[in-house]
Amino acid sequence: MTKEISAYHLKNIQHYYGNTKVLGIDDLKIEKGSITGLIGPNGSGKSTLLKLLAFAQKPSMGQIFYKGRLELPFSPSIRSKITLLTQKPYLLKRTVFENIAFGLRIRKEKKDLEKKVRKALLNVGLDYQHFATRFWNELSGGEAQRVAMAARLILKPEVLLLDEPIASVDIESAGLIRQASLNARKNLGTTLVIASHDLQWLYSISDQQLSIFKGNIFSTGMENIITGPFEKSDKKNLIKKLGDGQIIQLNMPAQTSCAAIIRKKNISIDLEKKPGSDKLNQLSGHISSMLLEKKNKTIMATISIHDLSLILKLYPEKISRLDLYPGKKVILRFASHDVEWI
Ligand code: ADP
Repeated sequence: MTKEISAYHLKNIQHYYGNTKVLGIDDLKIEKGSITGLIGPNGSGKSTLLKLLAFAQKPSMGQIFYKGRLELPFSPSIRSKITLLTQKPYLLKRTVFENIAFGLRIRKEKKDLEKKVRKALLNVGLDYQHFATRFWNELSGGEAQRVAMAARLILKPEVLLLDEPIASVDIESAGLIRQASLNARKNLGTTLVIASHDLQWLYSISDQQLSIFKGNIFSTGMENIITGPFEKSDKKNLIKKLGDGQIIQLNMPAQTSCAAIIRKKNISIDLEKKPGSDKLNQLSGHISSMLLEKKNKTIMATISIHDLSLILKLYPEKISRLDLYPGKKVILRFASHDVEWI
């Protein structure tokens, strides 16, 4: 039996801006028709990776195989199959109709143009009659993003790369953009790679989650990443102060590191603090959301602790025993040594 060829295979990628290395990926595969969630703080290299995957930028070093073939940036054959939607969409200074029809016109696919544009607009919740003749500058931010999405999906892309697609749009547009991306995968088998700060969304839809930090990729799944600044408390420990005065204590890393992973499995939840040692972090917060996981029958809960959000898995037994629901005040516990530094 031959193994299905991945959509992407990246080998020994390094990318520099000037002398600064911003991305280093030894080996990464993205499967056809899968959804990959990219998670990481600002400046970690998500947009750079997406530009490389779009073949819109050449990596300083390394190779990118697309469906088993080594491809070079800007190759027209491939760029028509792969499309990138950024946070601030670029629209042509023309009407909505012309923006959406543009790609098909370039491909000389003029048959049923109006019907196709009508359908593409409907797919992102925009009515043809009201929107087709509007100009690019007569749209709200959310509508412009939906038009940009429609202009991409009308081309039936093999890969849709989304760079913070819903970060600056209204709730209704965000919902429609989310739905349109999932429809593309369902109806066209489109491979999706999505960078978003909406961790709940990414977690609920993606098949794999990649955490990027300082240009390094960790296939950790969805885990808690705590970034600095940290302060030294003694020889063995660092602390992070939260905005409300609570303190997280973490074992000192062996080498220079800037972020800590606290795995979901190492965090427990309770309703009250226990008398314990100062090596045990006990943080008060509240449940901000609870989401049924796609594969297992567990619940992914997000706990807000002032300016920090931590996620953990909850089993039905625990939920009913502690009577947990969104909004409830809780205590999260994890040991200061249960930390991995990256
Ligand atoms: P993210 O999308 O995670 O916010 P980026 O890929 O945009 O991260 O940026 C990664 C790093 O590269 C950042 O330090 C950013 O300042 C830098 N960077 C991004 N684009 C350029 C550029 N065109 N020239 C120089 N530095 C850049």
